[in-house]
Amino acid sequence: MTDTPLLICGAAFTEDERARLSTAVSSVSVESPAALEGLAPGLRERLRVVAYKGQAPFGAREMAALPGLGLIANFGVGYDAIDLAAATARDIRVTNTPDVLNDDVADMAVGLILAQARCLLRGDGWVRSGRWSKYGEMPLAWKVSGARAGIVGLGRIGREIADRLAAFKMEIHYHSRQQKETPGWRYHADPVSLAGAVDFLVVALVGGEETRNYVSAEAIAALGPTGVLINISRGTTVDEGALLAALEQRRIAGAGLDVYLDEPAIDPRFQGLDNVVLQPHAGSATVETRRAMAELQLANIRAFLDGEPLPSPVN
Ligand code: NAP
Repeated sequence: MTDTPLLICGAAFTEDERARLSTAVSSVSVESPAALEGLAPGLRERLRVVAYKGQAPFGAREMAALPGLGLIANFGVGYDAIDLAAATARDIRVTNTPDVLNDDVADMAVGLILAQARCLLRGDGWVRSGRWSKYGEMPLAWKVSGARAGIVGLGRIGREIADRLAAFKMEIHYHSRQQKETPGWRYHADPVSLAGAVDFLVVALVGGEETRNYVSAEAIAALGPTGVLINISRGTTVDEGALLAALEQRRIAGAGLDVYLDEPAIDPRFQGLDNVVLQPHAGSATVETRRAMAELQLANIRAFLDGEPLPSPVN
């Protein structure tokens, strides 16, 4: 084993996460993939593992800058920032942190549905501003329990969302590439048909090029003027231009969003809308879950350095 095998890459790591990694394995740190080439060539050659956290692309060029690289351990289940084909071609293993965050992200989806339909932010403002005592009851909101929910992508997180919404007595519809075993949930072969059948369309797909604009302008149109779109997946999975236009022209009722095309500098048109609830990509952002993600990332790194099977490999 080399003396400094680990590169901690990404400004998004918290001090705590950074300290945990560097205490366990001798490491150096860079703020972004772009800073890699600034490292001394002798050091770059010794690095065998990258602990990665962030959205900036980590591609063939970055991999080529680290000739001894054998593992990219991603912090997060979504690894769309990492060029998986380039990694596989160079025999570089990639790991992620699945499952430990399912509950939190599903909770966030439910929170966005409730915040959007029951107008929780408007209610908070109504009380704080004194409008309650001045004008009385605020305009009525919309019922969630018993409504129709459509999940786009019934994977690990999508299923947790569906289970929670079933407990709200909602009628569950879903779209996945293949029909799945469910307790009688209604399958739709395409996202447009799904959007046309539901009140809340919840996007839980993986990100990346293959699912870019999967929720198309046509699907957003099919949702209709009483429909609400929730996205906790990646900004790329929804046609953001079509979504903004539909929200501005009130062709859909609203949206609850945790993810955007450009993060954190999101399209400012979102900030001017009163029919959206916006969150700062915080689906997994609880103390408990971030700790579990950090532990799983470290477990993958340790396993790789010890020559053991990787706990959560992607390739
Ligand atoms: P997962 O179990 O792999 O499920 C992903 C879903 O995406 C599956 O339903 C799968 O479809 C679908 N999918 C994958 N490739 C596709 C393709 N080429 N075309 C159409 N559908 C495709 O992943 P997960 O663990 O639930 O995570 C889902 C995503 O949530 C992550 O990738 C990440 O981007 C996002 N996420 C967001 C946050 C947040 O903070 N907001 C936190 C964690 C994760 P099938 O059902 O047909 O296989």
